This record gives sequence, C-alpha cells and structure tokens, in this order.
Amino acid sequence: MAGNTEPLPPRAKLAVTAGKAAAAVSRVAGRGSGSVIGGKVSLRLDPDLLARLARHLDVILVSATNGKTTTTRLIAEALRASGPVVSNALGANMPAGITSALAGGSDARYGVIEVDEKYLAGVARDTTPKAIALLNLSRDQLDRAAETRMLAEKWREGLAGTKATIIANADDPLIVWAASSSPNVVWVAAGQEWKDDAWSCPSCGGVLQRPGDDWGCADCGFRRPHATWALNGDYVLDPQGSAWPIHLQLPGRANKANAATSAAVAATFGVPPQVALERMYAVQAIAGRYDVVTFLDRQLRLLLAKNPAGWLETFSLIDPPPTPVILSVNARGADGTDTSWLWDVDYTRLAGHPIMVIGDRKLDLAVRLEVAGLDFRVCENTDEAVRMAPPGRIEVIANYTAFQDLRRRVGN
Ligand SMILES: [Zn+2]
Repeated sequence: MAGNTEPLPPRAKLAVTAGKAAAAVSRVAGRGSGSVIGGKVSLRLDPDLLARLARHLDVILVSATNGKTTTTRLIAEALRASGPVVSNALGANMPAGITSALAGGSDARYGVIEVDEKYLAGVARDTTPKAIALLNLSRDQLDRAAETRMLAEKWREGLAGTKATIIANADDPLIVWAASSSPNVVWVAAGQEWKDDAWSCPSCGGVLQRPGDDWGCADCGFRRPHATWALNGDYVLDPQGSAWPIHLQLPGRANKANAATSAAVAATFGVPPQVALERMYAVQAIAGRYDVVTFLDRQLRLLLAKNPAGWLETFSLIDPPPTPVILSVNARGADGTDTSWLWDVDYTRLAGHPIMVIGDRKLDLAVRLEVAGLDFRVCENTDEAVRMAPPGRIEVIANYTAFQDLRRRVGN
C-alpha cells in the first residue's frame, strides 16, 4: 500500500546504510556508481530488504528484450504527473541494482523498475507490483530461440495468479503466451517488426499463420487477443477510441510503441493519455543512446543495437541514403562471444548508404556484408571511419561493448 509510513525495522535500516556506504567506497575507488555492490551488501544483511522497500510503493515492473530502459523512463516521467517516482533509471536491472535504487527513494509513491528478463518472476514475487509492462521477447546474442521460448514459459508460470495488471504487447506471440496466464491483462497493439522468433506457436509448436497484422495457430486455436490500446502511426488509440498524438525526442517506430505501452500503464494509475504523452516529450537520450555528438566536424548519432531485433529496429530509424553509416561489432563477454547472430540480421536494408565497418569483429561483419552484396569499407578505428564521410550527419550503430568504446572515444 502506497503511503504506508510504517518505518523500516532496524535490521533493514542498517542494511540500507551499509549498502550506501559500500556504494560510496566503490565510487571513490572509481568503479562506477556503486549501486550494484551497494545493493549486494544490503541484501546480504537483510535478504528481505527488496520486499520491505517495495511495500511502501506502488510498484511497476518493465521487462523485455529491447526497449525496457527507455520504457521505464517514459513511464516514470508520465507517473510523475501523479506523485514522486523512484526508478532504477541507469539500468541496473537485477535484484541488487533494484534494491539500491529503491533504497534511495523513501519519499516516493511509485517505484518504476526495469527488470532483466531472467529475473522478472522473482522480482515480481518480491515486490508485489501493481502493474507489469511486457514489451517483446526475442533472442539475445547469447540465446537461441529455444531459450527464448523457455523464458516465456518461466514468465507464464511466474505470473500465473498475480494480482498485478499486466500491460502486454498483443502483437508478440511469445509475450501473449507469457501474459495470458494472468487474470488481468490490458493488451496493447504495439506492433512487432522482428518476427523470426515467432513463427511457431508457443502453445503447441504448430506453425503460426500471419495474415496481415493478425496471427494465430490453426492447430490449437492460440491467437492474437483483442487489443484495447493501439499504436497507430504517430498516435495512441485509447480504449474509448480517442487518438492522442505522440511527440517524442527519441527516434523510431519502436519508441512510439514504447510510448503507447507507457500511456496504457499510466492510465491504470489514473493519468490520462494526453497528460502522460505530453510528459514523455521530456525524455531525451538515455545513457548516451540516440545522443548526437560532434566529432571531427561531423555529427555522429550514437545508436545501440544489442541483438538481431534491435539491429532491425535501428535500421528502420536511421536517416535515408546517402547518410553514411558506421557499424561497430565486438564479441566480448557482455556481447556474447559468438557472432553467428550477424547472419540473422537483414543487412540489405542498408543498401545505398556508404558503410564503414569497425570493431573487434569487423572481419566477421565484412564477410556478412559481402555476402549481402553491399558496398563497404573496413576501417582501422572510429577516427578513420569518421574521416571517410563528408561533414554532416553520420549514423553510428554499435553493439554493447563497441558502443562503450565509441562513447569513450567521442567523449560522451
Ligand atoms: Zn498452437
């Protein structure tokens, strides 16, 4: 219950204090924000701390393969119309980082929390959320399709019988499968560009039919539910059929879909779509993603694409040819060390753009582009790639650690 003023027990208070101290030490040592180490220390001292902190809040969880950080920010911004919000805005999305974020928000009414897909069921059990937003599920580099299906199954089991309102994407069959064990679901027609993980029926393994925007299984009858909210071009349609314009500083169709879902979440807390959508305009670049920086007299737009679905969404938002494109791919720990996913991405969408290729795995990428029949240049580093392009806008698309390298080099 929000507004519950019952104080934390002494052990929990000690855990919060010790966690903050550990985070401060970690910061002084130059190891980032310290929120993860702080949260780990806190949970060691009081394993129930996350549940205790959540008890004082109306909790909203957000999970997905792509777009969860952005959507968390959009929902947080929308709900501020109705009360103070605490959020793990920097994307520390496992239990320690979440605990740390909530420990910093004792006056908040809402806790808007991004959750890593693998932790959703556990965090939902601990925090008793009022709402859970589920956007999409597709393979990450580290996973194959079968693991994505297992994740959906885990969500389905974890969310069965939850009291939370689930706000879920009706256009993603895996999301529908995961959410439909819940008694209270608000369906949003948010679209799905990446369909490669959703050709087989999550219920029976049959082949999904996809006439137009609809989908369904002829074998078992599992099918797209009726959506009461929808993304329609640049508008959100609410359950009354009213169309509300979306104005975002963030680019691309995927972010409009995130805005539609966020408006549906805000409405479950009494914030009207018009108010919610107006507030979302305030959200700018998120942890450097979508940022435009000037480097060597060019304007580089920095775009993060972590997995095949993310690459496809990114291709759909870049400026048209002849805008130059720099692609950077690494295969270090956080990226997944296997680059076979490159073959899952349709790079022919880049035809017509001058393309420069960098990163640890530039040769893997070069082979892929060669087979796709694209014209490209392999460059030694960011500077060389940027100099290949004339002054003006350059779209730079990088996977996870390549993106971090890039931001360090261009000073952002
Ligand atoms: Zn089926």
